[in-house]
Amino acid sequence: MGAGSPRVDASLPRPERLRRIVERDGAECVWCRRPFEAGRTEPSLEHVVPRLKGGPAWPENEVAACRRDNRARGHTSPAAWLEECERRGWEPRRDVIGARLLELRAAIAERGGQRRARPYLEGQLRRLGLA
Ligand SMILES: [Zn+2]
Repeated sequence: MGAGSPRVDASLPRPERLRRIVERDGAECVWCRRPFEAGRTEPSLEHVVPRLKGGPAWPENEVAACRRDNRARGHTSPAAWLEECERRGWEPRRDVIGARLLELRAAIAERGGQRRARPYLEGQLRRLGLA
């Protein structure tokens, strides 16, 4: 399980996409690293660039987070939320978040559009030292 690849098909229904994303990134919350476990810690679909900030519903912008952290993060930027997680003593998946932001940039360059997400995305990459 690495931070990059395999690609997840955007046309898959949401539950199947989430399953593939867990396979891609690992069976733990991207923020708190709690392992996903049926009936205890369920994965939920998290958008790295928030939908509110123009982030697309593409697998390149999707990671798996526990429901608690998905709710708690709200529309906080990924860079700010990584810092908040670390302030709490967690070891969030900076590698996964960074990989998704870079993939999202490549996907937008390829497909076009997403004008609102672009400057936000560049700002996040700079803040993470990946620009
Ligand atoms: Zn979590």
